[in-house]
Amino acid sequence: MSHVMNTYARLPVAFTHGEGVWLYDETGKRYLDALSGIAVNTLGYKHPRLVKAIADQAERVLHTSNLYRIPLQEQLSDRIAEAAGMDEVFFCNSGCEANEAAIKLARMCGHNKGIELPHIIVMENAFHGRTMATLSATGNRKAQAGFEPLVQGFIRVPYKDIEAIRRIAEHNHTVVAVMLEMIQGEGGVNVADEAFQRDLRALCDDRGWLMICDEVQCGMGRTGKWFGWQHAGTRPDVMTLAKGLASGVPIGACVTSGLAKGLFGPGNHGSTFGGNPLACAAGLATFDAIVEDELMDNAVAVGAAIRKGMAEALAGEAGVVDIRGRGLMIGIELDRPCGVLMARAAENGLLLSVTSERVVRLLPALTFTTADAQTLVSMLAPMIRDFLANG
Ligand SMILES: *Cc1c(COP(=O)(O)O)cnc(C)c1O
Repeated sequence: MSHVMNTYARLPVAFTHGEGVWLYDETGKRYLDALSGIAVNTLGYKHPRLVKAIADQAERVLHTSNLYRIPLQEQLSDRIAEAAGMDEVFFCNSGCEANEAAIKLARMCGHNKGIELPHIIVMENAFHGRTMATLSATGNRKAQAGFEPLVQGFIRVPYKDIEAIRRIAEHNHTVVAVMLEMIQGEGGVNVADEAFQRDLRALCDDRGWLMICDEVQCGMGRTGKWFGWQHAGTRPDVMTLAKGLASGVPIGACVTSGLAKGLFGPGNHGSTFGGNPLACAAGLATFDAIVEDELMDNAVAVGAAIRKGMAEALAGEAGVVDIRGRGLMIGIELDRPCGVLMARAAENGLLLSVTSERVVRLLPALTFTTADAQTLVSMLAPMIRDFLANG
């Protein structure tokens, strides 16, 4: 036994290297990666542009400090702002940190309006992270159990329930923001329809609330647009990014516009590592590759191929409840808990995850091809059919 703390039920597999969308373990066995480190490895493995950007930056400097200008951070902030049509970017190192920044922004926005105990409306089945504030915002009682007292200031509603939010608006004058994922990842790949998104934007405008979109999992081109909210043509006041932003180098970002712009000044927030030159070089290479290799169009086409292929291969299977998602964020919901499929798939050389107990989740790299999609379907469909028939 090593001294690593026992916070993950890990599979007994260790990978030594990867190439494209394939990972190789210590015995030389290869695995088709339909998870990409949980939506992190946007460009797959050993992408030449990413490898070069990281190596070149390592030759120059890895880290300086936010006490000085960081030109690569400025460039990456420009790329994010341009893609989003938003204004300012705060850099950190992970998704929960980006959400912490968003929560602090919302509270400051409230205090500036004279609301002493500001509240943020959050969703059932949301996942925003494991730090105390983001855990409190997360809509999963199991994840919260044992860590009370939770951070106050969150009001929970069922996902996509605009009427529940309207009812709160009527009697509660301490609300300052609504925070949500436009596609819930850990919650089971649940997609917010466009009508809900537009109604929510209108309600936030009407009330002067911040709309905070957690794009940590669905952002960075995965759904076929840079950000999940762009499918409805609405724009949030605050957006958080992390996972896929630098294709495997740790990074997070909290992006603002509208009412949220200019709320923080020097001393209000900070991060030692946040937006260091290495992470930003990887982030810039990720943006360049997504644009030049047309990876968002690819995500749309390959995602559709996977969903169609799975639907055809699983046609008539009563145990398959739904096949859903957008682009390369895909959930296959079964009628029973199927956590065992993760290990079984790995044994068969396929990496995926099961979330929300019953949803097989696929988050392949944006470099997945239609040929990879066919390989995936031919590996996964028989596994699901066998599981439904024999357990
Ligand atoms: C993974 C995830 C987070 C947390 O990110 P960490 O980097 O693990 O802190 C937050 N929100 C969403 C939507 C996520 O998928």
